[in-house]
Amino acid sequence: MCCEPETINHLFFSCDITALFWNELADMLNVESLHCYEHVASWWIGNNKYAVVNMVSSAFLWTIWKFKNDLHFGLVLWSGLQVIWHRLWRLLKRWKILCPKKLLGNAVGYASTK
Ligand SMILES: [Zn+2]
Repeated sequence: MCCEPETINHLFFSCDITALFWNELADMLNVESLHCYEHVASWWIGNNKYAVVNMVSSAFLWTIWKFKNDLHFGLVLWSGLQVIWHRLWRLLKRWKILCPKKLLGNAVGYASTK
């Protein structure tokens, strides 16, 4: 998405673009930080209390991966951050079945604010 050499860490975490998203997602999810794989994965081994954090972070990783591939293969052109938010929102709507019903309103609400 930028001109930096592509590594897993850069693509998913340290790129200025993805770091911006992680910061906003952390604010929306009310967690201290989502700045590296180890930190994001540490939520995955938690209990259902973090189901929303886990669903949103997983959806975001998948969204970035798919978007990067679409860019690479010329299926989309970079047109701004809103495209990624829109893709994340669409994916979360499809994944909402994975979220406990009592947390579902929060999960959908997070993404729809963008
Ligand atoms: Zn970058």
